[in-house]
Amino acid sequence: MKGFSVDTFEKQQAIDITVQVESCIAAEGIEDGICLIQVPHTTCGIIVNEHFDASVSKDILDCLDRIAPPDATYSHKEGNAHAHIKSTLVGSTQMLVIEDGQLMLGTWQRILFFEFDGPRQRRVWVKALEHRR
Ligand code: ZN
Repeated sequence: MKGFSVDTFEKQQAIDITVQVESCIAAEGIEDGICLIQVPHTTCGIIVNEHFDASVSKDILDCLDRIAPPDATYSHKEGNAHAHIKSTLVGSTQMLVIEDGQLMLGTWQRILFFEFDGPRQRRVWVKALEHRR
């Protein structure tokens, strides 16, 4: 398994990690298979969506803020209940197809790390599996 660190520097932010994931797949030498990307944390997440226009990520973060406002009343008293909820909604894994050593992403798709309770240093794990015929 490969992985890398992500240093977040804002309370909430989106970071494009596509290049780092591609480096992990290249290092594994996988030509044909699947790739699982996982974060071992409870207040961040991974999505696949557009990042060419960064306002898309801002709209997603704003929408999640409306669903789980940071200043709402929650049972969890650590002060980051909203971040746990957003992490649950977004999910902590993504799975993608690898063909000819490349991630099969659509034209506008990028792999985005979403921080909901930063700034922190986070880990991302990448497990690429070869397809055997
Ligand atoms: Zn907490």
